[in-house]
Amino acid sequence: MSMTAGNGETGKGRVAVLMPLPLERAYDYAVPDALAEAAVPGAFVRVPLSGRERIGVVWGEGGDDVAPARLKPLTAVLESPPMTEPLRQLVDWAADYTLALPGAVLRMAMSVPGALEPAPVRTAYRPGHGAPPRMTEARSQVLALLQDGPPRTAAEIAREAGVGAGVVRGLAASGAIEAVPVPEIAAFGRPDAGRVGPALSEAQGAAAAALRAAVANESFSVTVLDGVTGAGKTEVYFEAVAAALAAGHQVLVMLPEIALGAQWLARFRARFGVAPAVWHSELGTRQRRETWRAVAEGRAQVVVGARSALWLPFRSLGLIVVDEEHDTAFKQEDGVVYHARDMAVVRARFEGCACALVSATPSLESHVNVGSGRYGRERLPDRHGGALLPAIETVDLRETPPERGAWLAPALRAALAETLAAGEQALLFLNRRGYAPLTLCRACGHRLHCPHCSAWLVEHRFAGTIECHHCGYRRGLPEACPACEAADSFVACGPGVERLAEEVDAAFPGARWAVLTSDTVQGPSQMQTLVDAVAAREIDVLIGTQMVAKGHHFPQLTLVGVVDADLGLAGGDMRAAERTYQLLHQVGGRAGRGGRPGRVVLQTYAPEHPVIEALAAGERDSFMAREAAEREALGLPPFGRLAAVIASGPGEAETQRAAAALARLARAEETRLGFQVLGPAPAPLRLLRGRHRFRLLFKAPRRVLLQPHLRRWLAGLERSTRVRLQVDIDPVSFM
Ligand code: ADP
Ligand code: ZN
Repeated sequence: MSMTAGNGETGKGRVAVLMPLPLERAYDYAVPDALAEAAVPGAFVRVPLSGRERIGVVWGEGGDDVAPARLKPLTAVLESPPMTEPLRQLVDWAADYTLALPGAVLRMAMSVPGALEPAPVRTAYRPGHGAPPRMTEARSQVLALLQDGPPRTAAEIAREAGVGAGVVRGLAASGAIEAVPVPEIAAFGRPDAGRVGPALSEAQGAAAAALRAAVANESFSVTVLDGVTGAGKTEVYFEAVAAALAAGHQVLVMLPEIALGAQWLARFRARFGVAPAVWHSELGTRQRRETWRAVAEGRAQVVVGARSALWLPFRSLGLIVVDEEHDTAFKQEDGVVYHARDMAVVRARFEGCACALVSATPSLESHVNVGSGRYGRERLPDRHGGALLPAIETVDLRETPPERGAWLAPALRAALAETLAAGEQALLFLNRRGYAPLTLCRACGHRLHCPHCSAWLVEHRFAGTIECHHCGYRRGLPEACPACEAADSFVACGPGVERLAEEVDAAFPGARWAVLTSDTVQGPSQMQTLVDAVAAREIDVLIGTQMVAKGHHFPQLTLVGVVDADLGLAGGDMRAAERTYQLLHQVGGRAGRGGRPGRVVLQTYAPEHPVIEALAAGERDSFMAREAAEREALGLPPFGRLAAVIASGPGEAETQRAAAALARLARAEETRLGFQVLGPAPAPLRLLRGRHRFRLLFKAPRRVLLQPHLRRWLAGLERSTRVRLQVDIDPVSFM
């Protein structure tokens, strides 16, 4: 139900309405008297736009640039809780900061238009008390179907019993079956904040007390919860979740990838008695609608989700937790380009609530914010229950390389053999999906590359395909080389996880292995199956990409082998060292979490590299301090500002011209404004999905804001409409 405007009586009021469309700003509409009371700021309204009805949000008072006579009236106010002021502020702030159109940002906060209308009432049937006047074959089939299992809708009955809709109607009329409303998918049970959690250690207790106090303050604060892997960070922030719930507030917990949340969900249930609401891209339409609505109405009290959960319509947030805050998955790279961790802090500021950033390897940005006193920090220096951090050894591949055609050096093989002999589990980490990163023709050296991207095709032997990891293009391995026509001439170069599995299989016959990548495990339920299998010790060797790095707790896993510790350092962007440290530390942190001590073996060609040395010596803080000093000296974030602009288009020349034109506009003001323009240069991925790409980088001291100038130049830029200019403030990827 919604309130509508009666017969066109137009009152004097006007409001600005922002729509989730690619528009620059909110548009004014007249408010009919009948709707004046309901059309409050944040109200969801129906308005006409170019001959169509649209749903928008009352964004504020209207301006007076449109004559009252020309204003169109609102047609309805929807009966959904209005968008709260903090969320509207966040939308405006994010649009301003990222240079995205406000309507494009609003769209993220209105991702479920169906949730704004009352859910259609759906009816299901269960056996009733009456009897049909006459029993037919079809009727008895329906009754038999409904005798076992849950109530079903008429459509389900028709399909499952193979009967027409008339049969269902007849039975309902006779009272032999009776109608009941279809229950909601999820009931959004109340987490019980009163349940007692585990007894905390002294350090855990102190950290929990600090977080609880931050929540109790009911004002904006950011606390970095910095604790080694296995320290019990989750148990600690659960105490803060309990405090927020007890105070009647909602809680948002963001995780990098919800697929990794199976163990997390089980722990939440153990602590609070019910499952939290979850939010991620795999939810079905109905679940999405019900969840969105339950969040807006405050019935869903705790939401755990991927970055898009940040835009949910919480009524009253008491705490936002960003778990694994250093993870680059929080950066959204397409559409509205934003960093969900940073945006979570901004939302907490507008909401006036506490925010906890949780990690064993906090980002350099968070380190610096702690150093300057902007953020608080709580440390958990030890693993829970006296488990020791794993010992880290490096294997110098220059001195002791693997056998020809193999990827595990003798030392790692020996460690693996010992682990298996002891009945313990091992993890082999290699951040490369598929069989081999490169496939080439033995006869002529031709490399198979993607027809749409400047990237090689990767062989996936399990699936029998070769694939582009950038655009998803896939095909079978050609029988003959497209260049020289030699038959069966392709050879795999370098290792991928599938090739490692082959090596493990050959070297350790009988060892039970499993491969964990986004190819082999899709979605939470498959993840759960694998996690259960590892926990039940049905798997001896887990071989995986970065998907294995996060969150899992496998008590019997005592060995972690990092097959190529240098892999992440090759890219050479400013965060390569930091990211490699974080990733390898996380992976290594999977070892020895139970009673038995763990060990980590890093295979490297550069054991003297500062990252490898810091990992081996466990010197995180001095490593981060050195990284910080280096970035400060170079004026790089977080000490300076960076913004990237990526020009992309189907034609190489016109794309380059657009990028060059932007660079010229900016260079004319470079000195006056005090920043630097770098490029344009062809992007490392110079062709992506058939579009040519050029990058420009703007570098400025902290005190200079780049956005207003970028906005001005982009607005004044003449270019082909085929060329897209994507702005990326605080870039994480330099591809
Ligand atoms: P982190 O997130 O810091 O890596 P976790 O929160 O996953 O660590 O904790 C590691 C393991 O130790 C989990 O199984 C957790 O349930 C357990 N644990 C942590 N703290 C306690 C505690 N105080 N009492 C009982 N178990 C705990
Ligand atoms: Zn491609």
